[in-house]
Amino acid sequence: MVCIYCGQKTKIINSRAQRRTHATWRRHRCTACNQLFTTQEQVDLAVSASFIAKDGSIHPFNRQHLLQSLYDSLKHRPHALTEALDLTDTVIAKLLPQIKAAGWSRQAVVETAQQVLANFDKAAATAYRAYHPGS
Ligand SMILES: [Zn+2]
Repeated sequence: MVCIYCGQKTKIINSRAQRRTHATWRRHRCTACNQLFTTQEQVDLAVSASFIAKDGSIHPFNRQHLLQSLYDSLKHRPHALTEALDLTDTVIAKLLPQIKAAGWSRQAVVETAQQVLANFDKAAATAYRAYHPGS
């Protein structure tokens, strides 16, 4: 990776694998200007995971769609966006061990999101269930 400040070479000075989210955090130091910056490596879910809709059609997994649905269910809370971002990671971490070659069914995604919300905020889980019936 090249330096975001001067474009010269960098060295990785620290790195941590986050097992839960399958992400890798890296701290880089520029060999020329000595500045520090951080990168995150994550699974590219849009390319690596499919979402199988109710009618059987297959789509790229859309993290933004999951985030939006969690956010909609948490709107009554003062820190809904921050919480929705964290819960999106939690739902995906719980979905990753269940991934099949074809991806995730809508039912697997909805059920996992409902379980995560039920453990976090009962009203949010109820709101989510109202928007995602029949699972
Ligand atoms: Zn630099």
